[in-house]
Amino acid sequence: MKSETVLILSLCISPLAHCQPKPSQTGDMEATKLQQQIQGGRAKNVIFLLGDGMGDSEITAARNYRVGAAGRLAMDMLPFTGEVTTYALQENDPAKPDYVTDSAAGGTAWATGQKTSNGRISTSAGSDKPLKTILEVAKEMGYRTGNITTAEITDATPAVLGAHVNSRACQGPADMKNCPQYKKSAGGPGSIAEQLIDHKIHVLMGGGLQRYQQIIDGGPDEGKNVIASAEAQGYKLITNAQELTEVHLEPQQRLLGLFNDGNMSMEWSGDPAIPYPGSGPQKCKEFVRPANEPGLLSMMMKTIRLLETSESHSPGFFLQVEGAQIDKRAHSAQPCEQIGETIAFDNAIKLALDYAAAHPDTLIIVTADHGHSTQIVPVPTAEVHGPGLMSTLITTDKANMALYYGTNSVCCSSSHNMEHTGTEVRIAAQGPQAFRVLGVHDMSEIYHLMARALGAE
Ligand code: MG
Ligand code: ZN
Repeated sequence: MKSETVLILSLCISPLAHCQPKPSQTGDMEATKLQQQIQGGRAKNVIFLLGDGMGDSEITAARNYRVGAAGRLAMDMLPFTGEVTTYALQENDPAKPDYVTDSAAGGTAWATGQKTSNGRISTSAGSDKPLKTILEVAKEMGYRTGNITTAEITDATPAVLGAHVNSRACQGPADMKNCPQYKKSAGGPGSIAEQLIDHKIHVLMGGGLQRYQQIIDGGPDEGKNVIASAEAQGYKLITNAQELTEVHLEPQQRLLGLFNDGNMSMEWSGDPAIPYPGSGPQKCKEFVRPANEPGLLSMMMKTIRLLETSESHSPGFFLQVEGAQIDKRAHSAQPCEQIGETIAFDNAIKLALDYAAAHPDTLIIVTADHGHSTQIVPVPTAEVHGPGLMSTLITTDKANMALYYGTNSVCCSSSHNMEHTGTEVRIAAQGPQAFRVLGVHDMSEIYHLMARALGAE
């Protein structure tokens, strides 16, 4: 992302199947569009889409299942692709890497441009200093801001944009066991739930209602729950799909959408992976999400509409969209749930691409914070199989795809919790400054790419 090198524009950017030189006018137009993107410049809007735990294997599994091995997902269509390294730092010796990151340290890297240790939310490893986030930068410059997820809105990924705390566990005012110095009663900025509200982010949506029902223990809103504090600060609360459709904001109002007590419901379901011979061969059950909960796509459509309107002095918007439960369902080795969440996230990427078609001054970035435990393996046999969990899925190719989950997991308990992996992950981008993703970079460089596109660097 540092390189200013101008690239040769005979790049073939289409899916492989169409990768023939195009002497036609269409080809020239594509080259012109690419040339504009390589020249950089300022983005009016930045849409940052984060697939939690969406490593290359997780992408490939979803592609094979949904559109077939030779098909292409929306995320495969962005013109510039690179790789980012994901490692964290050690808390007690920040000069040394911790090779496997969690979403808190990974998120702190892309959100602040600085790396930290696992579990930290936009604070420095070892020294516990707040690190300024890209959302804070954008807000100071007058951009409208949105932060939406399919996890609790207080989960690590959305938290890194609008909170600073030493532990990701400190999600609500009653969850502060690991962060006593951050409690409002101790003169601190409070839990993640409180800080997200106090940051006055224009649109916040996801799960996590239960965190907002907890009672604030200090400061001007002491004794109120976080919802009451949010409402006093200009937020309108909505809690179901119908309210999302109907909601209308007054010019100075902000939106808090909390659609589940915890994480939001799954899009798909199926049999979990189990030890050999594994579950399946199976096809996943789709459309299982309860109708009163909105999906990521409708949250995102509404958010863009709300960020676009009013406040004509605003230069544009910054929006973070998280497909959060690719990670969570890989932890629990549930391939159908995981793939359903990946496809829902891909549909959100498609919406971003459609939006950018009408608003080409939009920078879109798609990446992950770390890889996960999913491996695509030959269909296991009695003679050849691993000790982990497996499931065979019948894909759209009408072929069997065997998925295997076999990283560290909690020993000897019935609940499996596969750990993350330390691989580098894909980054893809389109729009002003997008070419900077080409090559191999560290996750912390994403912050600088976005800062440059917003005109802050
Ligand atoms: Mg996350
Ligand atoms: Zn995880």
